Amino acid sequence: MISQGITILGSTGSIGESTLKVLALHPQRYHVIALSAHSNVTRLAEQCKQYQARYAVISDKEKAGELRAALDALGCTSEVLAGRSALSDVVCLDETEAVMAAIVGAAGLEPTLHAVQAGKRLLLANKESMVIAGELFRKAAAEHSTTIIPVDSEHNALFQVLPKGFDQGLEQAGVEQLILTASGGPFLHTEHAALKNITPEQACKHPNWDMGRKISVDSATLMNKGLEIIEARWLFNASPGQIAVIVHPQSIVHSMVAYRDGSVLAQLGMPDMRTPIAHALAWPERIEAGVDRLNLADIHKLEFYQPDLERFPGLGLAFQVLETGGNAPVTFNAANEIAVDAFLHHRIGFLQIASVVSAAMDRCNQGKIDSLDEVLEYDRHARDVAEQIVNSLV
Ligand code: NAD
Ligand code: MG
Repeated sequence: MISQGITILGSTGSIGESTLKVLALHPQRYHVIALSAHSNVTRLAEQCKQYQARYAVISDKEKAGELRAALDALGCTSEVLAGRSALSDVVCLDETEAVMAAIVGAAGLEPTLHAVQAGKRLLLANKESMVIAGELFRKAAAEHSTTIIPVDSEHNALFQVLPKGFDQGLEQAGVEQLILTASGGPFLHTEHAALKNITPEQACKHPNWDMGRKISVDSATLMNKGLEIIEARWLFNASPGQIAVIVHPQSIVHSMVAYRDGSVLAQLGMPDMRTPIAHALAWPERIEAGVDRLNLADIHKLEFYQPDLERFPGLGLAFQVLETGGNAPVTFNAANEIAVDAFLHHRIGFLQIASVVSAAMDRCNQGKIDSLDEVLEYDRHARDVAEQIVNSLV
């Protein structure tokens, strides 16, 4: 078997760690080219030692010396690269054959897009990139014949149950609807009045999934599902009317495709990101992921509900953003990143996250997007506006 060279952007995060666990099960099949972290020098050095990475990339330039010292202390010879541009450099290396994009937030956009432009197989976890620059991703993937395989569990499920050639048009493929499941997060049954006093610690405790702090808060507000409907729009070339959301608290059915003849195809599995990661790594083959097997007799029941858009206004906002298009997803995502950060730092309350996003949407102009520079400019502007709104609240 020819071993494949893998680069992981954001290897010290939840998805990055899960990816390394899957790679460890297949030492003949994969080898690590580069691993990256923003600032966690200690963990990055340990990973580089264990997986014999050729390059250790730290995006915070100031930490390069500290990283070299940590690697030397472990007797690890990985070459240190530092700064944001180093992320793009390692994805474009000849030795990198596939890239796991697992940086959180818009910070992952440039290296992720560069991976597509360099024609690397892209395993996409960093949904925010696709949300804010979906059209650029689609164009680049077509131009460079790049395969983008979604890692987000819902989108990976859809990718698994869609027919071949879905990209030519869902309608032509007999698809009526993409139905994304949502766990509903930790506060699915919490009274609206009690939502006001939710703490970051409570919001980060998800009932089914173990994830990074930002996506955990997004799951609690349902902003995550909002981002995911926009992600689905671009990944599957879907129109807004072709995307629906259903609440499914057990997180066993990861999403479904409804076909014209009344058939509904679903992908099921235990809620463990190693399944979509292993699928994306090996597709179209199937490899061991190291996960518990699903036994439906143990689960007993699978429930489904309509989402409550009044208690979780972020999802309603996302459907509007989907209709509006243009730069609206950039504003939506940037304002959400600022609001989540403010919430995690105890500057605003849980319910104010959606208010900040909504106010930022009202205050930013809608426009078209034709280039990466425009995305970055709208992103910066929306962050400034959202920051001002947060400051007016604290
Ligand atoms: P995390 O916070 O656990 O890890 C984030 C990683 O990105 C870390 O390695 C960190 O060093 C790096 N990073 C953070 N800020 C950076 C910056 N400014 N520049 C460069 N690197 C930076 O996040 P996660 O939960 O692993 O999520 C990663 C991405 O995958 C997110 O986009 C998330 O929405 C998506 N995702 C995660 C899960 C999950 O189960 N965790 C599921 C589906 C999708
Ligand atoms: Mg998801």
